[in-house]
Amino acid sequence: MKITGIDLHHIQIPFASPYKLSKKYGTLTDAHAVIVKVHTDDGVTGVGEADPLNPFTEETPGTVMTVMRDAVAPIILGMDPTRINMIEGFLDQAVLGHPTARGAVNMALFDILGKVRNAPVYDLLGGMAQSRLPIMGAIGSGTPEEDAEAIGKWVDRGCDTVMIKMGVLPIRDEIRRLEAAQDRFGDKVRFIVDANQGWDVPQALAFMDGVRGFPPHLLEQPVDRVDLHGLARIRGRAVCPVSADESLVGLEDAARLIEHRAVDAFSLKVSKNGGLSATLKIAHAAEAFGLRCLMNSMLEFGVTQAASLQLGCTLTNLLDCGHAYMSVLRMADDISDFGDFIDGATVAVPTGPGLGVQLDEDKLNHYTAASLRLPNGKEGNAP
Ligand SMILES: [Mg+2]
Repeated sequence: MKITGIDLHHIQIPFASPYKLSKKYGTLTDAHAVIVKVHTDDGVTGVGEADPLNPFTEETPGTVMTVMRDAVAPIILGMDPTRINMIEGFLDQAVLGHPTARGAVNMALFDILGKVRNAPVYDLLGGMAQSRLPIMGAIGSGTPEEDAEAIGKWVDRGCDTVMIKMGVLPIRDEIRRLEAAQDRFGDKVRFIVDANQGWDVPQALAFMDGVRGFPPHLLEQPVDRVDLHGLARIRGRAVCPVSADESLVGLEDAARLIEHRAVDAFSLKVSKNGGLSATLKIAHAAEAFGLRCLMNSMLEFGVTQAASLQLGCTLTNLLDCGHAYMSVLRMADDISDFGDFIDGATVAVPTGPGLGVQLDEDKLNHYTAASLRLPNGKEGNAP
C-alpha cells in the first residue's frame, strides 16, 4: 500500500458569535483550519486537520500548506501509510517544528490504518477506557452579567465544567468575575480559568490570593509560555492545580515542565501537540510523573475533535471534569458530522473505522478559501 496523493483545503468558517479570547489573541470572528486528505493506491483515503493559530502556535494555514508541499509530501509520497511510526521517524529527521501540519498528517495516517484494519483508532491505541466523555463549556471575556448569561447556556445543556477566559481585565475585575460565577453557579459547575499567558507572575499570584475563598478547579497557562520558573512559583502558592497549554507543544516541553515541577496538569490538544502519536507520548509522560491531563482543543473542527476523542477515551489519567469536545458547537458550521456524537453535556466516542467521522464534501468545498493538490501542486481558490 502506498501514499499516492495529498489534498489540502484551507477552510474558513465564522464563529456562531465573535469570540473574545484574551488580551494576547484579541477577538476572533472566524476559525481557520487546513483539512488534509491522504490518498492511497488501493482507494482508501485518510483525513486529518491542522488548526494553526498564530501567535498561539508558530504556524498559520499558509505555512501548513507550504511545509506540506515543500517538506512533508516529498517524504511521504510513495510510503506505506500503515507504517505510522516509521513515517514519524522520517519526518522527525526532515521537518523541524510545524506540529500542526505534522499532526494533520498523523491523524490522516491513523484514519487510513483504522479503515484498513476495520477498527476505530481507539482500538489501535489499546482500546477505550470510557465510551463517553463529559464536555466542558467555554466562555470568552465579559462582564459578570455577560458571563452569567453565557455560563447559563452551558448549564442549560447540562455541563458541569465551564472554562472562563481571563487575562484581559485588571486582576481585581477578573477576581470579581470568578466570585460572581461561583456565587451563582458554584454548586453545580466547576470553573477552569484560562489566562492564555495574559498575566505576569505578580498578577497571577495576586489572582491566586484573591480567589482563596472560591478557587477554580484548574488555572491554565497564567503566564508566558517560556516562563517555567514563573509557572513553578505560581504553582507553589496555588489554591488549585495549575496546567500548561501554550507551554506544552512537544515531548521535550513535557520533559522540561516536569523537570521544573512547573504544573500539575497538561492541556493536551492533538493538533497543537503534533498528532496522535506525539500526544500519546506526552500523555504517558504525564502519567509517569503523576500529572493529569485535560483534553483541550484549539478553535477546531470535527476531524481534530474526533482524533482528540479517539485518544482521550483511552487515557486513564484524565482530570475529573468536562473536556473540550464543544469546539464545533461554537462555530456557525462544520465540515464533518462530529456534532452528531454530542448529546447534551456528553460526547459518544465514534465507533466506526478510523477516526469514525465523515467529511461533508459539499461543505468542505463551500468553505475552502484555497486548496492545493500534491504531488502536482495544482493550486485553486474557492469559487
Ligand atoms: Mg488554553
